[in-house]
Amino acid sequence: MATLRFKALEILFDRQAKQVIYPSVKTSDYYGANIFDKEKMQKYMPREAYLSVIESIEQGTRIDRKIANQVAAGMKAWATEKGATHYTHWFHPLTDASAEKHDAFFDIEPGTGKSFESFDGALLVQQEPDASSLPNGGLRNTFEARGYSAWDPSSPAFVVDNTLCIPTIFVAYTGESLDYKLPLMKSLNYLDRAATEVCGFFDKNVTKVIATLGWEQEYFLIDDALYQARPDLQLTGRTLMGHASAKDQQLSDHYFGSIPERVAAYMHDFEIEAHKLGIPVKTRHNEVAPNQFECAPIFEEMNLAVDHNQLLMDIMNKVARRHNFRVLFHEKPFKGINGSGKHCNWSMATNTGVNLLRPGKNPKTNLQFLTFLVNIVKAVHDNADLLRSGIVSAGNEHRLGAHEAPPAIISAFIGTELTKILNEIVERVSDKKMSATAKTDLKLDIGRIPEILLDNTDRNRTSPFAFTGNRFEFRAVGSSANTATAMIILNTAVARQLDEFKTTIEALVEKGVKKDEAIFQTLREYIIVSEKIRFEGNGYSQDWVEEAARRGLSNVRTVPDAMKAFVSKEAIKLFNEAGVYTEPEIMARYEVILEKYTKKIQIESRVLADLSINHIVPTAVKYQTELINNVRGLKEIVSAEDFELLAGARIENIKVIANHISQIKTKVNEMIEARKDANNMEDGAVMADAYDKKVKPFMSQIRYHIDKLELIVDNEMWPLPKYRELLFAR
Ligand code: ADP
Ligand code: MG
Repeated sequence: MATLRFKALEILFDRQAKQVIYPSVKTSDYYGANIFDKEKMQKYMPREAYLSVIESIEQGTRIDRKIANQVAAGMKAWATEKGATHYTHWFHPLTDASAEKHDAFFDIEPGTGKSFESFDGALLVQQEPDASSLPNGGLRNTFEARGYSAWDPSSPAFVVDNTLCIPTIFVAYTGESLDYKLPLMKSLNYLDRAATEVCGFFDKNVTKVIATLGWEQEYFLIDDALYQARPDLQLTGRTLMGHASAKDQQLSDHYFGSIPERVAAYMHDFEIEAHKLGIPVKTRHNEVAPNQFECAPIFEEMNLAVDHNQLLMDIMNKVARRHNFRVLFHEKPFKGINGSGKHCNWSMATNTGVNLLRPGKNPKTNLQFLTFLVNIVKAVHDNADLLRSGIVSAGNEHRLGAHEAPPAIISAFIGTELTKILNEIVERVSDKKMSATAKTDLKLDIGRIPEILLDNTDRNRTSPFAFTGNRFEFRAVGSSANTATAMIILNTAVARQLDEFKTTIEALVEKGVKKDEAIFQTLREYIIVSEKIRFEGNGYSQDWVEEAARRGLSNVRTVPDAMKAFVSKEAIKLFNEAGVYTEPEIMARYEVILEKYTKKIQIESRVLADLSINHIVPTAVKYQTELINNVRGLKEIVSAEDFELLAGARIENIKVIANHISQIKTKVNEMIEARKDANNMEDGAVMADAYDKKVKPFMSQIRYHIDKLELIVDNEMWPLPKYRELLFAR
């Protein structure tokens, strides 16, 4: 009987690119067709309700019941025309996915039994999804397993699969957040407040600052048939075994290469869906590894950008099925080649239309630019460990510090020109005898930044946090992550830093120091104290690992270790004062993250044991038996002397196979024992640690023997699609 592997390879011969029909040649004809945006609000709602929603979006005001009813009626009328029969509150629980529970618009009148269409303001504004099975880190006892979802008017409702989806936050009965959106919005509020105040030193017209986010989503595509033949991909999202392909990414012939036809069809298809949902995807290209790709949107206000990324991942999964593909969002699906990240391009923009990380055109705006730049670098310096805790996951653990991925060491890159300018600030101002003209010089230097900068922003693709001309790019974020996790921490850390800066400047001014002078002095101090976090060299090199250790920077490799910073006294104080997380919320999230980590390794370890014992060992034994029979036969027909000569290598092979088999069996048994021990741990953190340090090491040891066997065993017998097939078959 042919194995699934060969069936899959046969199926591949007949695969064709699906034809994709564009709704129109112009994207703008259908862009946003499936969202209830401002235009549709105006059309489907009374003016009073429309203005009220706009005010709520822009100023965060509450929407009263009467207005909510009007909005609900308008939304429902629009959604019904779009074919929606159901509605759902759509939210981001602390799993890896978004959640939805669908209710029909239709209802039955108690008593009369008459059916009618229902959906009113109350159902729009708040719901009580029975979501007690979603992770909550012990925040909800089962007797009070209530969670509420509440409408977020700032993210437009949308229709997908005949369902009206209403973006919501998700909180416990007692008010603690159970999702990513609520703390994200809180961190955005804090950043708005702190950044607006600092802008006040430069421009009184600034009354609001928003954070902007443009994510770059990397992913792998695998043919569905091959995927079905790899239980490890199906159950864990990554390959737990597989010898390197003779050719993978050495020739760099995939990056930016022409996109394979089937893949291009898939990309067009999901982009159409994305555009209908108002997700502004714009860029698509091949990535470095074979079968790896990327898509990126035009950046947006952060809350919206985060929703859009979550939604897009869902859409990409769904559309992939139509094209007989599976999307791998895992950070490291294949050993030895590039993993996938989700670079988060992050900046801040004012209500006056200024990007605060774009160097200005005159000395004043340049001082503003430098103020933000230096404060951000300082925030990264002071909160490096906390930022590291925002990018953890079992998957990203394999990626950070591995093949062409940013290291687990947090550092910031700002480029040669800016480094020069920061150094100048430190040197010149430190000159006590500085004359009045020198001071003006300094200011003029600052004034000259734009010409220099705008044309030559050097890039450093090895830095986890790199300045790229008009934004920072947080490159260490994992491809499967909800971007909010990292952004909440970044926003909070920067806001806190800006807060401190403002207080310092005000105190100096109070003492009679001129404002510009106070700003210079403070920036200078910040530049000096945060120097060690700046690194302009090759972050992928071993030299950097050593240099970072000398500088005293952390290099935390595993999730349980990285999470310690998240529950540190300082972090709890910071989040509390920022109004982003209460202590119970922090502890709950900590528990959820560690539990998720433990479970992922547990699943991987079980799948590996099953594949080892039920797929690999029997195959190796079968091949070994063939060899033994062959050797026996040989012995019958040749002389004893010749036999020695002819069968020596084969006998050696039989022994090698026997050794791998027994190693695999022994290690699998030991791993199972280690798992049992780990499962007995009472404390979640201790259990995660045991999985990390006691169970995980077996996985690479077992894999080693399997991968060796793959090289020895007859290709015809090998049951699992090989790396070369997974990476190149299309
Ligand atoms: P690269 O691969 O060179 O990093 P891409 O074009 O793939 O560039 O991605 C750049 C991303 O940065 C895009 O999503 C873009 O919208 C985003 N971006 C550009 N300017 C800003 C900004 N001011 N704030 C946030 N994101 C931005
Ligand atoms: Mg990038």
